[in-house]
Amino acid sequence: MLLLSGIGPAEDLQRLGIPVVVNLPGVGRNLQDHVLLAGIQYEVQGDLPAPKNNGGESTMWWKSDPKLLCPDIQSVIAEFPFATLELADQVPPNCYTLAPGLVRPASRGQVKLTSSEPTADLEIDMNYLGRDADVQALLLAIDMCRDMGASAAFKEWRKREVMPGKRDKAGMLEFLRMSTSSFFHPTSTCKMGSDDMAVVDPQLRVYGVSGLRVADASIMPTVTTGNTNAPAVLIGEKAAEIMLS
Ligand SMILES: Cc1cc2nc3c(=O)[nH]c(=O)nc-3n(C[C@H](O)[C@H](O)[C@H](O)COP(=O)(O)OP(=O)(O)OC[C@H]3O[C@@H](n4cnc5c(N)ncnc54)[C@H](O)[C@@H]3O)c2cc1C
Repeated sequence: MLLLSGIGPAEDLQRLGIPVVVNLPGVGRNLQDHVLLAGIQYEVQGDLPAPKNNGGESTMWWKSDPKLLCPDIQSVIAEFPFATLELADQVPPNCYTLAPGLVRPASRGQVKLTSSEPTADLEIDMNYLGRDADVQALLLAIDMCRDMGASAAFKEWRKREVMPGKRDKAGMLEFLRMSTSSFFHPTSTCKMGSDDMAVVDPQLRVYGVSGLRVADASIMPTVTTGNTNAPAVLIGEKAAEIMLS
């Protein structure tokens, strides 16, 4: 909506014939998402029981490198087969999944308009795995999930590991790329801050215009280290508090 209103990177707007109201180069940039791999598949002994509640009730945070200040890995269990379209035909129906996730991604994507028409499709480049650091962290997360999946604690459930199975480094990298999926937590395309790429100030006011604020997950300078719904609600509550005061 900002881009269509002429608030964004001037060059991009001019190319589409949109009159520039404010040249704000950060609008649509800095796109971040948590990456979720779908996933390490285990065939169950006997029948797969029906999932309880949401079918994914356990999650864990871990560090791919002990020197990190906060965890960068968030893995989840899915009490059902969870695979990308590319891999789904290799997965039997009686599988559960350990899904490695990355919650401190280094990669940044972007959202662009393709036309000045509001109904036209957007160009969304998630740029997942765009930085090698993300690939390396996820390779470690795969190892971690496979260690857990092979542990004695899962013995009574596990019949066999269906995927990825034993692979060399190149094979594991291929599995990583084929299984890459979204955690559904895209944020940060209107980041709050005070540098040249910031879109809103600490009061959530859009730079360069008056009477306009953004209050949603897009203002996060970096995506949170966990699911984004509660933080999005918090941003809304904070915006209400700022405006009332
Ligand atoms: C499939 C899925 C599963 C998820 N699961 C979880 C989870 O388990 N836990 C968790 O914490 N988070 C989860 N999330 C993430 C969470 O839902 C989002 O981070 C959160 O909703 C972001 O809030 P928001 O206000 O920024 O955006 P949204 O909630 O997307 O709100 C944007 C609003 O703007 C409206 N809108 C869009 N365009 C226009 C327009 N042109 N004019 C007027 N209105 C417009 C939309 O209709 C929508 O109501 C999930 C997301 C998805 C998609």
